[in-house]
Amino acid sequence: MSPAAADPSPMKTGAIAKSQFDMAADLLGLEPYMRRLLRMPFRSVAVEVPFRKDDGSIELFRGYRVQHNGARGPCKGGIRFHLEADEEEVVGLATTMTWKTALADIPFGGAKGGVQCDPRQLSPRELEAVTRSFTRRIAIVLGPYRDIPAPDMGTNAQIMAWLLDEYSARAGYSPAVVTGKPLTLGGSLGREEATGRGVVYTMEDYSRDFGVPLKGSRVVIQGFGNVGSFVAQFAHQLGARIIAVTDVDGGLHHDQGLDIPRLFQHAYGERKPVAEFAGGERITNEQFWGIPCDWLVPAALGGVINKESNARSVDCKVLVEAANSPTTPIADKILGERGIPVLPDFLVNAGGVIVSYFEWVQNLQQHPWSLEQVNQELRQKMTTAYTAVRDIVKEKHVPWRTAAYVIALGRVAEAERLRGH
Ligand code: NAD
Repeated sequence: MSPAAADPSPMKTGAIAKSQFDMAADLLGLEPYMRRLLRMPFRSVAVEVPFRKDDGSIELFRGYRVQHNGARGPCKGGIRFHLEADEEEVVGLATTMTWKTALADIPFGGAKGGVQCDPRQLSPRELEAVTRSFTRRIAIVLGPYRDIPAPDMGTNAQIMAWLLDEYSARAGYSPAVVTGKPLTLGGSLGREEATGRGVVYTMEDYSRDFGVPLKGSRVVIQGFGNVGSFVAQFAHQLGARIIAVTDVDGGLHHDQGLDIPRLFQHAYGERKPVAEFAGGERITNEQFWGIPCDWLVPAALGGVINKESNARSVDCKVLVEAANSPTTPIADKILGERGIPVLPDFLVNAGGVIVSYFEWVQNLQQHPWSLEQVNQELRQKMTTAYTAVRDIVKEKHVPWRTAAYVIALGRVAEAERLRGH
């Protein structure tokens, strides 16, 4: 079995991206040189990140910034601080960003960065030192028209503020060099909830086209973090019943629908685990996958729907990939055989990078937008991308993911050709 065909471990999204790339490249009839150009990263920078610890000693972490493709615009993608953020992982994530920005039709390419560390083991001062050291080492490949980072796992708006400060010390005030900043430093209204909002826009579009009404329907959500909690709130506002929710410590089930505003207050106001909320029956993270529902929304980890545990047993009408790479390629095939449509991650969860694009535009214009404008333009972008994919699904009778790849690869290949490659 080739590595691309193996069911990869949850974190190794690189292998997932490769096998799906081949399917779409075949459909587009891409030449071998173009496949190589689109598959390989444009530039991959590996650095040592030295910093002084609170005890006075110097420690080193390994850091990466991978620019996968910049044919359609400056490279764009988050920086994660995570022990498993090795080069393979970062290349895979950078590649996905290229397809996500192309499908959303925003003028960016794809990138990702990572520092191999556990941020929970660092004091705030050490975290700042790591961020500044990493920024100094990769600053030469960054820039508002070159490569624009954003937060990702283990990083946040404060870390982006330090990155902005360190970069601006060299290049002059450059708010457009990074997105996901605090509002005071040029962040965008609506960025925090953008991914969850975008997920629900796509659910609404699908619901209208395929007769799975959201109102009264049963939704289950794995993960109640940034993405999952906003999906729950927006879907609840549209009248959906959120019948099960989990977080890392377990979950809750209530067939009539959980009281989402109160659960949100419980999880974020009182900072308590989902399973300790009184309004439902406690379930384990394994039991979650067996609950019959209309919409199954993984919004936590990669690789959670796989042939070993649940691909043959999940009982849903449609799977909505709010997380990155929640479905392994083999599970994807099994779901296809079972007739369950899978709305792919780089369509469904593009709301975050779309509003990051709006943030960049606002920084370049030096003119902040209202929340209404952000949400209205987000809806337009999400629906346009959804409609393009739906049309290919109908026309070519291919799975949603394949259709999304056909559009994304086609757009990047066209940009490469127009540039003379
Ligand atoms: P987060 O850290 O805010 O939340 C993750 C949630 O998943 C938490 O509630 C955590 O408790 C839960 N979780 C962890 N392990 C679990 C397990 N084994 N079972 C059940 N729940 C578990 O992260 P997030 O920003 O919401 O991101 C979630 C997913 O969405 C990730 O795959 C991320 O890459 C993807 N994503 C996020 C954004 C964004 O803008 N935040 C954009 C695109 C994609």
